[in-house]
Amino acid sequence: MVKRSRRKRALQRGLFALVALCTAFIIILFAMGPALVAKRFNPTVSRAFQPIAPASQALHQSLTIADLHADSLLWGRNLAQSASYGHVDIPRIIQGNVALQNFTVVTQVPTPLKLEGNTGSSDNIIKLAILQRWPIATWFSLKARALHQARQLEVVEQKASDQFRIIKTAADLELYLTQRQQNQQITAGLLGLEGAQAFEGKIENVDALYKAGFRIIGLAHFFDNEVGGSAHGVKRNGLTPLGEEVLQRMDDLHMVVDLAHASPQTIDDVLGKTQRPVLVSHSGVQGTCDNARNLSDRNLKKITQTGGLIGIGFWETAVCGQDVDALVRAIRYTSDLVGVEHVALGSDFDGAVQMPFDVSHMSRITDALRKANFSDTDIQKIMGLNVIDLLKQTLPEK
Ligand SMILES: [Zn+2]
Repeated sequence: MVKRSRRKRALQRGLFALVALCTAFIIILFAMGPALVAKRFNPTVSRAFQPIAPASQALHQSLTIADLHADSLLWGRNLAQSASYGHVDIPRIIQGNVALQNFTVVTQVPTPLKLEGNTGSSDNIIKLAILQRWPIATWFSLKARALHQARQLEVVEQKASDQFRIIKTAADLELYLTQRQQNQQITAGLLGLEGAQAFEGKIENVDALYKAGFRIIGLAHFFDNEVGGSAHGVKRNGLTPLGEEVLQRMDDLHMVVDLAHASPQTIDDVLGKTQRPVLVSHSGVQGTCDNARNLSDRNLKKITQTGGLIGIGFWETAVCGQDVDALVRAIRYTSDLVGVEHVALGSDFDGAVQMPFDVSHMSRITDALRKANFSDTDIQKIMGLNVIDLLKQTLPEK
């Protein structure tokens, strides 16, 4: 009898210790997990650089710089504060003298992720949603994930209200640029979507996401969706009948079409239907880096004939290199083929890729472009003015 109650007590103590251990593990997982994941997925090649030439630095400080693609809202970091990992936050954007950052929202990524032949049957983002304790609706709804991340950008705007604002109209942009002439310690962001699967097959969700602040819409991401085909999908089809409706509604609302990740057929279909300039927020070009993700010469010409812009990405599979020279090679190739007026930056910062540097070191690009004999006027256009011009033409007036 005594033996049995002693055993019972030992068992109870063991169980208690196990529950305490599991609770501690869960607390630590939720407290430190998001930062560990963000750090692991978004490394940089280097954080220490020699200073650049004074003339390059002076030119860099005079530029209005825009970057067309960063997935920074995905990782649960407080972007109002500077971090020692990841690629983008408001203090580092200001340090890099970037005037405008497009914050792109990712809602579903297949696993395993391939360059070709992905289906939409798996979902890697749910792990991040649970780990970061997003609202439960985001576990089941891609639209809810988009709205949640849009809300996070508003939180950044509230926390860093004297440094950061969200641009939604051409009037916002004009006012902001005028104010920035007096004060370079302010910066701004746009809200973009990476993949129209977040519309969940419903045309009315175009308006819902417009209301939430989205202004740039990538029609496809890593798999074919209800709107159109992806370059990495199975069918790689063009625009669907719903896709045609979506495109029309986006035109009516003055939302900008982003053809990054779109299948060649979707690119053709969109260019055959819209009269407004489109952009490719982050891509490489097959002329310097030949793979299915990057744009052919034919598509570069077609996209830019409508006044479109190509945001050149900074990562390995975009430019076939991990340094600023590979990036400049792609910029040179694209400028020579379609004209410098159609070239922009589309980093893919915080896009689960290794970067040559974080946003605070954007002056490396200005320096490398100067060394590659681009004129100051060309550098101004590539680094941001082309993006500003396109947005002035395409965003809703007010
Ligand atoms: Zn992407």
